[in-house]
Amino acid sequence: MMSWEIAVNRAINNNVPRVYKVLREYPYIIELAKELRETKLKVLNNIDYYIDQTLKSVEKIGGKGYFVSTPEEAREIVGKIVGEGKTVVMGKSMVAYEAGIREYLIRKGNEVWETDLGEFLIQIGNQPPSHIIAPAIHLTKEETEKLLKDKIGGVNENSTHEDLVKRVREFLREKFIKADIGITGANSVAADTGTVALVENEGNIRFSTVAPQVHIAITGVDKIVPTLHDAMIEVMVQAAYAGIYPPTYINLTSGPSSTADIEMKRVNPAHGPKEFHLILLDNGRLKANKDPVLREALLCIRCGRCHFHCPVYRVMGVNWGDPPFTGPTGAMWSYIVNGDTKPALYCTHSGGCKEVCPMKINIPRILEYIKWKNNDKK
Ligand code: SF4
Repeated sequence: MMSWEIAVNRAINNNVPRVYKVLREYPYIIELAKELRETKLKVLNNIDYYIDQTLKSVEKIGGKGYFVSTPEEAREIVGKIVGEGKTVVMGKSMVAYEAGIREYLIRKGNEVWETDLGEFLIQIGNQPPSHIIAPAIHLTKEETEKLLKDKIGGVNENSTHEDLVKRVREFLREKFIKADIGITGANSVAADTGTVALVENEGNIRFSTVAPQVHIAITGVDKIVPTLHDAMIEVMVQAAYAGIYPPTYINLTSGPSSTADIEMKRVNPAHGPKEFHLILLDNGRLKANKDPVLREALLCIRCGRCHFHCPVYRVMGVNWGDPPFTGPTGAMWSYIVNGDTKPALYCTHSGGCKEVCPMKINIPRILEYIKWKNNDKK
């Protein structure tokens, strides 16, 4: 067995029973997932309206909202906000990866650190992410220890899991404190309030959204939901199907920091960021939304459950899909974002992904459709 297969198998054995346990203990999550599917379909039916409403809401709360069609446009906006010679901390964001934000900012002379532990490991290891919620899932504990020893030191062959986490915690703490800019994704965005909702367990998102003077959230238009109530439902469902429920933290950001402690007049900034920017990226999503088969892929809430019930992911793991889009959902998204039909060709249509998907996305059907598209290209 290759080392990544050992690591992925360990992760599957830890995650799969845990998700079933969460759903048994908190059965209301299953009902919330059904409701969320209908809510997200409602948004897709009227996406232009919701994009417009979201941008207006962000402006109303003192932030700046941008809609961009391409990764190049996203990079340009982020580049203008960040400038050069800054320290940037990033919370794990698939869309930031999709848009190549980290490399771009480093090329511009900034010090940029991924702060999600898995994302940090693949940054220092110069590797692509291998799973949508656990980007370093392909690394065994032994490989993680070697990587940390080589790149930042402070661990050895006797280090425990706890020791490895502690070493990264020590290393990143100073970066959080000195960071000028925090960049995150979004698990959901409320159109009515312009609020970005983020769910996490490490505390790195909380640091990245509050400690620096500027917070930039970058996400796809598919993350918009009508209300803050819906945004909370999405983070709860995502966390439960990812296998960690209750999540340690749910972060809501509605504009720059503010206070109303003097005569109840609301002013900003207060202790947190002075600036809040939300960038909504299209990059193939709106085109997919017009396609009656592909649009269902836009319902994906990135819980990563489909990976663990897929025989192809077990065999191909890290090598399946265009990073960060791996696994069954990644095979759909590699096509939506990059027009790449190849990942879909590996699907064996076992159907396990559809059975366990909280959004009941008919992934095998969509991948079959992409296979047809591939044949059309010949
Ligand atoms: S396709 Fe479904 S199971 Fe897979 S990551 Fe998306 S929501 Fe989760």
